[in-house]
Amino acid sequence: MKHISVIIFFIFLHLHAIPLSHIQKEYSSWKNWAQSHTCNPHCIFYPETKEDLQAIIKDAKQNHYKVKAIGSGHTMNDMPCTNGYLVRTDKLDKILEIDFEHNRVRVEGGKKLKHFFQELADYGLALANQGFITDQSIAGALATGTHGSGHTGILSDYIYSIEFIDGNGEYQIISPESNAEWLPFARLHLGALGIVYALTIECEPLFILEHTKKSITWSNFIENYQKYFFDNDFCMVMGHPEKDSALLYVWNKTEKKESQDLLNTLKERIFKNRLVDHAAIHIAHNYPFLASCCFDYYFGIAAHKTQYQQSYKSLSPFTDLISIAHFKEAEVGIPVRVFPQAFNTMRNLIKTYSDQGAQFVGTITTRFVQGSNRCALSPTNERDSIFISINTLNYFENSDQFYHDFYTVMEQFDARPHWAKTNFLNKEIIDQLYGERALAFEEVRQKLDPENLFVNNFIIRCFGLNP
Ligand SMILES: Cc1cc2nc3c(=O)[nH]c(=O)nc-3n(C[C@H](O)[C@H](O)[C@H](O)COP(=O)(O)OP(=O)(O)OC[C@H]3O[C@@H](n4cnc5c(N)ncnc54)[C@H](O)[C@@H]3O)c2cc1C
Repeated sequence: MKHISVIIFFIFLHLHAIPLSHIQKEYSSWKNWAQSHTCNPHCIFYPETKEDLQAIIKDAKQNHYKVKAIGSGHTMNDMPCTNGYLVRTDKLDKILEIDFEHNRVRVEGGKKLKHFFQELADYGLALANQGFITDQSIAGALATGTHGSGHTGILSDYIYSIEFIDGNGEYQIISPESNAEWLPFARLHLGALGIVYALTIECEPLFILEHTKKSITWSNFIENYQKYFFDNDFCMVMGHPEKDSALLYVWNKTEKKESQDLLNTLKERIFKNRLVDHAAIHIAHNYPFLASCCFDYYFGIAAHKTQYQQSYKSLSPFTDLISIAHFKEAEVGIPVRVFPQAFNTMRNLIKTYSDQGAQFVGTITTRFVQGSNRCALSPTNERDSIFISINTLNYFENSDQFYHDFYTVMEQFDARPHWAKTNFLNKEIIDQLYGERALAFEEVRQKLDPENLFVNNFIIRCFGLNP
């Protein structure tokens, strides 16, 4: 009898064991970069090949686990969270193919943008644009509609084709030649259509940018925003939420050669130094009243003379940022013409909270992004947009309410929230913002994931599925 129970025990163990022994795994909880969202997956996998991804998904399906992929975990909401299988894509990090005739590059989805850009430069290529940072994975950044600033689209607009492992564990290529009608949904897919194995990105020849950073006042910028945004190839303004001080970043393509003077290089190094990051974050957390002076000093000293740099070195001002607890950021894309009213409305809201004692430690940023119809669920779909974002590095009482109120006051300007930031998106809001396109996305999702393997609370909330 004793022997039989031991045999039954081993059969039970075998049936429930994960038959994916060659894939590195880990049993632990997971936290996002901002430490705002955490989950307890059944298992975290580190696949290295397309076949590993297929095996994980087939196993999850068989054992009724949900699956989500994680790139760098920089998303500021619960979009990547799961209690099932979490797939870390860090080892899917190779450039697979380069088509020099069309400047198209096929790359595995887990490659970090910063490494991708460096390698592209070695081949004489670059992406048309970049966001604030480049620590994200390429598949993660493109899944959520990450954008920079300038006369270009969001990064996902540059996807030529995308290779998923779908909810049946099958390999699917979505491209102009195959399942083309799914491309506008697959380019910005919110992690809901499958796990991305690889993407083919449309690149351009490496370019040099002439870059200046100048101190500016918000009043000057609001008065002249069209000129700043439209007369420059790329332009961004980042400033103090309460004061009239900001930093204007301007970049223009040039035929000149790359060059940098020593003083500027030293300044850049200091600003990109992790010790300085640590010190700034420590001050923000512990002495919020000093933070405002630090920012003023920063906006003054960070201004610099013109530099000439390869685009990938110049466009993303922050690299290797340490994780910041309590970091929150809300961002909306609005039509260009309503920018001054929307901006003033946001600053009035900040003033109301500030008058009630809230101490903001953070920045406001504004960026222009060109509209396109390449991504159905992009905030920039068929609309040139100005993005306004506000971030806070510290916790203050009612900060959740503040971010909620921010989105509420922005509704009157037909604002579309960034998918990956602190937001309060739900099905009602999404239907209002994206209408038919949201329904069509859900149809594609059901085809690629008929058993809802990639569905989590975020997808349920946004697309109204039954859990
Ligand atoms: C400091 C900071 C600065 C930022 N700056 C900008 C900016 O300038 N512009 C901007 O637009 N955004 C910005 N963001 C937002 C950021 O770009 C997005 O959150 C982006 O999605 C993060 O990429 P990631 O690799 O960390 O993705 P993750 O957060 O890991 O994942 C994002 C989503 O993609 C899914 N996913 C990831 N990999 C795969 C895969 N291989 N297959 C299928 N699904 C996958 C995940 O399941 C999840 O749903 C910033 C965020 C931070 C924290």
